[in-house]
Amino acid sequence: MKIFKGILASPGIAIGKAYVLSRFHLAVVTRAINKNEVYAEIERFNAAIEMVRKEFVASANKGAGNLSASLRDIFNPHIQILSDPTLVEQTRQLVEKNHVNPETALKETFDKLVQRFDKMKDGHIKDRLQDIEFVVNKLLHAMTGAGGDDGLSNLAEPSIIFAHDLSPFDTAQMSAKDVLGFVTEAGGKTSHTGIIASSLNIPAIVGIPKILKSVQTGDYVVLDATTGNVIIRPTDEQFQTFNRKRQKVLYLDKKMEMDAGKEARTLDGVLVTLSANIEGHSDIAGAILHGAEGIGLYRTEFLFVKGNRLPDEDEQFEDYKKVAQSIAPHTAIIRTLDLGGDKIHDHLSMEHEANPALGLRAIRYCLDHHAIFRTQLRSILRASHYGKLRVMFPMVGSLEEFLKARSMMDKIKRELERDKIHFDRNMKIGMMVETPSAAISIHQFAANGVEFFSIGTNDLIQYLLAIDRANQSVASLYEPLNPAVIRTLWNIIQSANRYKAPVSVCGKMSMDPIYAFLLIGMGDVESLSMDSHSIPKLKQFIRNISAEDARKHVLRLMEFDRVKEIKKYLVKNIVPLFSEGMVSELTSEDSSVDF
Ligand code: PEP
Ligand code: MG
Repeated sequence: MKIFKGILASPGIAIGKAYVLSRFHLAVVTRAINKNEVYAEIERFNAAIEMVRKEFVASANKGAGNLSASLRDIFNPHIQILSDPTLVEQTRQLVEKNHVNPETALKETFDKLVQRFDKMKDGHIKDRLQDIEFVVNKLLHAMTGAGGDDGLSNLAEPSIIFAHDLSPFDTAQMSAKDVLGFVTEAGGKTSHTGIIASSLNIPAIVGIPKILKSVQTGDYVVLDATTGNVIIRPTDEQFQTFNRKRQKVLYLDKKMEMDAGKEARTLDGVLVTLSANIEGHSDIAGAILHGAEGIGLYRTEFLFVKGNRLPDEDEQFEDYKKVAQSIAPHTAIIRTLDLGGDKIHDHLSMEHEANPALGLRAIRYCLDHHAIFRTQLRSILRASHYGKLRVMFPMVGSLEEFLKARSMMDKIKRELERDKIHFDRNMKIGMMVETPSAAISIHQFAANGVEFFSIGTNDLIQYLLAIDRANQSVASLYEPLNPAVIRTLWNIIQSANRYKAPVSVCGKMSMDPIYAFLLIGMGDVESLSMDSHSIPKLKQFIRNISAEDARKHVLRLMEFDRVKEIKKYLVKNIVPLFSEGMVSELTSEDSSVDF
């Protein structure tokens, strides 16, 4: 039996068998070939190399400045790997010698490289291996039209997945039926992988370095994502204890869901609107069931990575129209594409960046890819005719960015008018507050046409404290209760209230009762938006508190200098307001394994 403690990414308890995805988990379909097919198969491999090379060259040219073509190739690791005899030649030889398809030969060559390199401690070599994996994936993609199988489709029974890391897009493909929960070595408190798990109601714990060394496929495991504990090969007694705890958590969740349809009004009469964060229109039925009073954040990037091509205008229009119609008479806020950071996807041919969180992300990406952005804006505008939609831009850092995006909207509106296509002329245009520059400029944005604000606390904390939200090594420094964060949130909400611009919160802070309490105490918040499973719990909590008290506590808290004092104060004063089964990041932090 072994116990590990990790970072709680998505709440719940899972008990079952482990399925371990190896760190470099490329799986391909093996196919034997005849001697007379060898030539054609090698040609197919060569064609894939050429296709991928063209893609790499095109993206390298963009950043190459005045470099000559030969120098550019030397400096680009991916182009170099494509010409590397170890990978390419050995693959060709294996096809010839073993009479297998090039996919299998490529994987075998890659596996040998992993075995050789993985024993070495040198960080550069590990990086090199990641580059090679990237290239191999591209080649597999080019040959088969699909990425390397991630192994998840091979699950023989519902399992708890253990992996070094999972991308948010891998996670979005999971189904709660097959995946009971997951544990990763990488990841921070608000990495998107955890956020998506939470929206799918899959318990998840992230940030346990080297756990893959202690677990094997088929081991029984308990994942207690109410405290962050993972128990590998539990004793019978532990197994029983957690099974009882799991039943109780499920029972309390069900109980809270019974009142999900009722409004969340504080004891002193302040009505708080609770809305849902979604990743697709199919999440709306669940959101309504959990009592959502609108969609506060539609993360549209997930619509863009489902197939192996971009959705066209009509496809997007149909999707946004469904969102508008299904949530009516409530409002849905559609956030324009937020790609980049930890959300990178192969077929969007995004460049490898040294600092993706500070790179060509979100609105910056869209303003750099006009055609993609234009198509999205047009489809949102067309869909706005069918319900109450709003649109908002992510990661805005300057007024210029907002104005550029809005002027594109204005141009599209004129085109639609000219072509007599219906749209809502009064659709509100807003922005997320996720960068420190936006946080301190609310007045300027409000004075220049921003019609509403939505605070993305996940990113705001990342950028304010300079802590990578997806990096497990700095996860303990990612602190929503840092006095600078509290003061910044206070300033944003107060400023927006002063300028009479609606302000909501859609980051993960909204769904933690203690943080929600603080946000309610900071002023007039239009809505708190969260993954829909958390709505019943938050509604219940809000019915037990007074907004006036919350304000007094916030004012008192702002006198403290240290996080420790703030936490102590909150646990003493707010936790007693919890009903049974309610948890907060603060209450799970100190919990040791309780049996
Ligand atoms: C946020 O940053 O708080 C947010 C809601 O957006 P995302 O988590 O998708 O970056
Ligand atoms: Mg964000």
